[in-house]
Amino acid sequence: MKVKVVTRILEANERLAEENRRKFRESGVFVMNLMGAPGAGKTSLLEKTIEGMKNRKRIGVIEGDIAGTDDAERINSTGVPVVQINTGGACHLDANMISEVLPDVPLGELDLLIVENVGNLVCPAEFKVGEDMKAMVLSISEGHDKPLKYPLMFQESSALVVNKIDLLPYVNVDIDKLKRDAVSLNPALKIFEVSCRTGQGLEKWIEWLNGLN
Ligand code: MG
Ligand code: ZN
Repeated sequence: MKVKVVTRILEANERLAEENRRKFRESGVFVMNLMGAPGAGKTSLLEKTIEGMKNRKRIGVIEGDIAGTDDAERINSTGVPVVQINTGGACHLDANMISEVLPDVPLGELDLLIVENVGNLVCPAEFKVGEDMKAMVLSISEGHDKPLKYPLMFQESSALVVNKIDLLPYVNVDIDKLKRDAVSLNPALKIFEVSCRTGQGLEKWIEWLNGLN
C-alpha cells in the first residue's frame, strides 16, 4: 500500500516536471539540476561556474534550501538573477515548487538555468523538476564509500564533480575506488576533479557544461 502511494506522488511529480520542461524548451533555456550533500560545495561551484561562463551564457539560478537566503545572497552578488525557494522542512525540491517560482524567473532572458537542490544525497535524485540534466557535487572528504551507499544520485547524474580535490593528501580516501564504483553504477558518467578553492580543474568542467546547450 505504501509503495502505491509513493508511486502516485512520483507520477504526479513527473507530470508537473514535464510541464516545466515544456516551458523551458519554449524559452530555449537549458536546465541543470545540481545536487549534493550539505557542504559538498554546490554554491561554491555555482559561483565559479557563473564567473567562468557569464560572458558566454546568460545564466539564472534557483536556490533550494530548507531555510535561509545565504546561498541566494552569494549568487546575487555575482550579478545573475536568482530566486530562493525555502522548502520549510522538505529535504528536496520537486516540480511543483519550481513551477510556483517560475513567474519570478526571467526565462526569456536566459540560456542556462541552474537549480541548486537542497543539500541531501538521497531524495533529490528521485524528483525531477523539469531539468535537461542532473549533476552532483561530492566533496572528496565525504569518502569513497558514497557511490555504493547512495547509488541513485550517481546513476541519475550526467556529471560528478569531485570537489575539494586539494584536500586529497590529507584525507584517507581512495579516489580510484570512488571513480571506479561511480562508473560501475553509471558508465556514461563524466567525472571532474576540481577545487573551488584553488581553481584546479574548473576550466574542464566549465568547457563541458558550456558545450552542452
Ligand atoms: Mg548551497
Ligand atoms: Zn527529500
